Amino acid sequence: MFPLKKYGDTFREKMASGTIWICVKRVMINGSAVFRFQLKFSRSLSYYNRRIRYRICGVDSVPFFMSEHGIRLFISRMPCGNEERMLDVCLLGTGGMMPLPYRWLTSLMTRFNGSTLMIDCGEGTQIAVREKGWSCNPIDVICFTHFHGDHISGLPGLLLTMGNADRKEPLTLIGPKGLERVVKALRVIAPELPFPLKFVEIADPVQEFEIKGYHITAFRVNHNVTCYGYTIAIPRAGKFDPEKAKVLEIPLPFWSRLQKGETIETESAVFTPDMVMGPPRKGIKVTYVTDTRPTPMIVQQARNADLFICEGMYGERDKLQKAKEYKHMTFYEAAELAREADPKEMWLTHYSPSLTRPEEFMDDVRAIFPRAIAAKDGRTVELDFEDELATRGKG
Ligand SMILES: [Zn+2]
Ligand SMILES: [Zn+2]
Repeated sequence: MFPLKKYGDTFREKMASGTIWICVKRVMINGSAVFRFQLKFSRSLSYYNRRIRYRICGVDSVPFFMSEHGIRLFISRMPCGNEERMLDVCLLGTGGMMPLPYRWLTSLMTRFNGSTLMIDCGEGTQIAVREKGWSCNPIDVICFTHFHGDHISGLPGLLLTMGNADRKEPLTLIGPKGLERVVKALRVIAPELPFPLKFVEIADPVQEFEIKGYHITAFRVNHNVTCYGYTIAIPRAGKFDPEKAKVLEIPLPFWSRLQKGETIETESAVFTPDMVMGPPRKGIKVTYVTDTRPTPMIVQQARNADLFICEGMYGERDKLQKAKEYKHMTFYEAAELAREADPKEMWLTHYSPSLTRPEEFMDDVRAIFPRAIAAKDGRTVELDFEDELATRGKG
């Protein structure tokens, strides 16, 4: 435990395998205290060097725990002020078909405002989560693209792990029609769980869901079984206009409630958020697509996304015919989708097991779309709302 005597203090502790320094800075954002922790490790641990931003309230000490996976700080993330800004995105694995010793199967995990979402869960995905130092327990929603084994066979093991941790909160599963039947079959080996499962089967070609602050759009893609891509968006309300509130003589205690989207009725008046809020501002958008041929809908969904994660099963140009036959894509087809959709960045994933060095093909890919990256397992980004200080890192 490091007692934080005064903000700005630097703590230094000798560890068995290195030295850790924790710098704590306290800054104010929107009138709320935000603590920034900067962790630095000695050279033997330089692999873990990264900046971590946490928003916490009322904490005066920082317990930490160290394992071979790095440092874990025991800080609960809590929303501070009116909104939490960052979306943490981690591409846990980048493989297709089967997990390999150096490559987990394609799966995405995001964290926002204390809520965790996962897309696809193939064999070994829970190990990839642990390797990343994240936890399976707070997952609220799992979306499935389709029911091929490399996208769902890790589910029973994950459910058992969550059950062992004595989770009680319900878990929502979203997927194509037949989801409940498929999961029921997989659950023959995980029949008793201490938490309920909620099933949401997608019925339409494009369907939207609101869950835990996430705005999820599922859209049909073109694979050899029913398959969906997903857009995960964090919408952002407009700016509060105090001048308008004054002119309308809205009592001060109602201001923050209106900012949170509440409608307030008094005996003499009704106040709605649109009376004092500006037009919605640009939010955060991540589009995830795997196991499909290119379609116009993918371009539409990924348009201006902060991040477009797209399958690229084959890097070799002469595998185009194979890609068409098995309903997958080549790197170049993915790059062309990105060129049309113009996201800030594209990450390729779902590589064929025969593709051992995806980066070898990237010069040609970047000739089509310059901001393309051959993602590796565990690639991470923190996405911030546009006019906030953006922190981007990779791990
Ligand atoms: Zn697949
Ligand atoms: Zn598939």
